[in-house]
Amino acid sequence: MQFIDLAAQYQASKELINKRIQRVLDHGQYILGPEVRELEVALEDYVGVKHAITCANGTDALTLAMMALGVGEGDVVFCPTFTYFATAETIAFQNAVPVFVDSDPNTFNICADDLEYRIRKVISEGVLTPKAIIAVDLFGLPADYKRIQQIADKYKLKVIEDAAQGFGGEVRGKKAGSFGDIATTSFFPAKPLGCYGDGGAIFTDDDGLAEIIRSLRVHGKGSDKYDNVRIGMNSRLDTIQAAILLEKLAIFPGELVKRNLVADSYEDKFGDCHKTPKVPQGYYSSWAQYTLQVEDRQMVMKRFKESGTPTVIYYQTCMHQQSAFKYLNYTDDDFPVASYLATRVLSLPMHPYL
Ligand SMILES: *Cc1c(COP(=O)(O)O)cnc(C)c1O
Repeated sequence: MQFIDLAAQYQASKELINKRIQRVLDHGQYILGPEVRELEVALEDYVGVKHAITCANGTDALTLAMMALGVGEGDVVFCPTFTYFATAETIAFQNAVPVFVDSDPNTFNICADDLEYRIRKVISEGVLTPKAIIAVDLFGLPADYKRIQQIADKYKLKVIEDAAQGFGGEVRGKKAGSFGDIATTSFFPAKPLGCYGDGGAIFTDDDGLAEIIRSLRVHGKGSDKYDNVRIGMNSRLDTIQAAILLEKLAIFPGELVKRNLVADSYEDKFGDCHKTPKVPQGYYSSWAQYTLQVEDRQMVMKRFKESGTPTVIYYQTCMHQQSAFKYLNYTDDDFPVASYLATRVLSLPMHPYL
C-alpha cells in the first residue's frame, strides 16, 4: 500500500495527459502558453473567484500575496504554529514578524479565540503593526473563515487563505480558495490537486490586487515585460504543468468523492479505538491528510507498519519549535494545544485510488 499513489492516478487518465503534454511540445510555447490561461479560467470557474493567477509553487503564491498586500518590515502577520513551514517562512521572508497562534484541538486549524488574544497583545505592546492573518486549511479542512473574517474586520487586518492543502474543500458550498482578501494554493504532486512538478496559484476577487500579482510574477512588468514598474519575481507555472493540471482538474471532483469515501471507511474502522478527525457541520474536506490522534504513537506506527500500512507524522515540529524561529523566543507553554497535537498526530494513507 502506498501513502499517496500518484502512479494509479496517472493510469486513470494517462492517454489524456499524454495527449495534452504532446500538444504543448507541438506548439512549443513553454512559458505562459495558452494552457496557462486556459487553466486559470478553469480554476476561476471551479473556485468561484474573479481571478486565478498561477505561479511557480505554493510558497511563491504566499510571497506574492504578501507583496501585493504590502507586507513588510515592522508588520505582524498572524499564522498558526501547527502548519507547514512555508506558511511562516514567507512572513519572515517579507521581513515581517510572524506571530504564531495556537490550534483548535478538534479541527487542527487556527484557534479564533487565541488569534484575537495575540492581536490584542501586539496592539497593546504598541511596537509593531498588525497587518494580516494567514489561515491554513490544514489537512484539507477549511479554517473557520466566518470568525476569522469578523476578527480581521474588527482590527482592520487583511486575510490570506493558505489553501495549499485545502483546495477542493468547502464551507457551506463556498469553495476553499475563495476566502479572505487573497487565497493561495499549491500544485505540489502530493497535494489534493497536484501536477508533475512544482506549481501554485493565487485567487482573489479584487481587480487591483490581481493586476499587481500578475505584474509581480513576471519581474514587476508594466505594459510589457521590458517595462518594469516594480520589483517582482520570476514565478510562473510551466505550460506543461498547466496542461497536466487541466486534465487532472477534470477528474478532480470525482476524486474528491472517493477521498471522502476513504475517510468514511477509516472512521468506520478506527472511530472506536482512536481519536479520528471530525468534519464540522457545513464543512467539506478535501482530505489532504487523514490524521489520527494516538496516545502511544511509536507503538501504533509499528503496528501499522507490520500490517503493511505506511504512516507519516504531519507535523512533529510546530513553527514555534523550529530552529529557524528560535529568535522569536516562544516556548511550548505558549501553544499548549499545538504542542500536544505534535506529539499525538499520525497520518494514514490517503488518495482516491486506495
Ligand atoms: C505545501 C504547502 C505550502 C507550500 O507549497 P509548495 O508548492 O510546496 O511551495 C504552503 N502551505 C502549506 C500549508 C502547504 O501544505
